[in-house]
Amino acid sequence: MAATSVSASSIAISHSVVRSHLPARNHFNLQPSSAFSLRLTETRPRTKPVVSASASAALEVVDQAPASATPSKTLPFRVGHGFDLHRLEPGYPLIIGGINIPHDRGCEAHSDGDVLLHCVVDAILGALGLPDIGQIFPDSDPKWRGAASSVFIKEAVRLMHEAGYEIGNLDATLILQRPKLSPHKEVMRANLAKLLGADPSVVNLKAKTHEKVDSLGENRSIAAHTVILLMRK
Ligand SMILES: [Zn+2]
Repeated sequence: MAATSVSASSIAISHSVVRSHLPARNHFNLQPSSAFSLRLTETRPRTKPVVSASASAALEVVDQAPASATPSKTLPFRVGHGFDLHRLEPGYPLIIGGINIPHDRGCEAHSDGDVLLHCVVDAILGALGLPDIGQIFPDSDPKWRGAASSVFIKEAVRLMHEAGYEIGNLDATLILQRPKLSPHKEVMRANLAKLLGADPSVVNLKAKTHEKVDSLGENRSIAAHTVILLMRK
């Protein structure tokens, strides 16, 4: 999108599904849902590699049913990336990878605020070409409100299997200034592998500080990145 003119494009946004009508990007047949989707229809050739500030785009809301992970394009591998960040506040438990880590503060969130599990879910959903965790599991839905993040992982894994994929490998990086995670890394990794139903050898976990700068480095937030490779079963 950034490399093309949008002046003659029609963009439709609904609540949970991001879908492009460009053939090369339309991986899934997602059923109509009550959620949100981004639809791009190009009406002229991509000749201008500039996004104009005066671009005219039509915005349209589309109602759609819950996403179904039925891929229309079968690929041997699919890669996904997940990112998450939570604010750290005193008075909350710090739960990472389903493990309660002793600390003077934790994540303020409607769920258990598990930054690692959330970004792993987003990586799986991203690999499947599905919308993100907030759209698949909206906190406005009583079904998901206050749910343990392991519930989200299990649902993402179910969608992955339904689409015909299994985990190849996963690499995650946690970013926080304190506390040191090295004493907890193995138990977090083992628990994550168990939740995913994957062999621990394909689940890698790293942690680093933020050099005492910005909110991450000042013990005011925690973030995580995950890259995952899915393989066709
Ligand atoms: Zn989160």
